[in-house]
Amino acid sequence: MDHPAHMPAAAAPVFRECSECGYLSSEPAFADTATACPLCHRTDGERRAFPPDRQRRLDERIRAYHVQGEWEIVVILGAALLEALLEDILDRIMAAHGADIAVRGTVLDNVRAIGTRIGRLFPQLTGTEFEDAADKLGYRDFPKRWRELRSQRNAFIHDTPYRDIQEGLDKDIAAETLALLDQAYELFVSLNNEFVADALKGRKRKSDLTPTPHMGAADEDPPGTVAP
Ligand SMILES: [Zn+2]
Repeated sequence: MDHPAHMPAAAAPVFRECSECGYLSSEPAFADTATACPLCHRTDGERRAFPPDRQRRLDERIRAYHVQGEWEIVVILGAALLEALLEDILDRIMAAHGADIAVRGTVLDNVRAIGTRIGRLFPQLTGTEFEDAADKLGYRDFPKRWRELRSQRNAFIHDTPYRDIQEGLDKDIAAETLALLDQAYELFVSLNNEFVADALKGRKRKSDLTPTPHMGAADEDPPGTVAP
């Protein structure tokens, strides 16, 4: 492998989300709503955990399979989780720009291929190439390594004549999957803060927000919640 061995994290990192602007932070103090959001300066609302529980449970299972040496399962599930994390970010970016659930669902349904989501949808939504955004945030190799991982996963899982066949997914590819997963949380949180939180902060003053999946639907608000 052309990059140093990666010691996988014990678990996915925990971030907290500002319910007002969508800003995500791993600062322990940010879990307390008394700590002002650095972006919108709110000191109330909820500080929901990110990634959400169901993704955290999947992440835990992937790491458990890694301990058991189930390399192929680690790669296939890990690659699926990476794609789900990207889909969530794309969804959040669209929501931050005012797209409602129907529009977001239609766009994501029409652009199923991960390569097109990265190569076309991301730049259309953000005005910047995914590679450049990753580079700017300190993850220059991430797009290329992720592409290699998808290609190895595809070569293993598909039986198509135009692809090289990959007979197995070994320990090194599994370790690479976890390395990418560990980076992906940090990278996607940085993308969120750049392309979601900033946009939401600007929009919020003018109109009501369409909640993103992570921000929760209106009916999840506790009864009696009163706007300040
Ligand atoms: Zn905020």
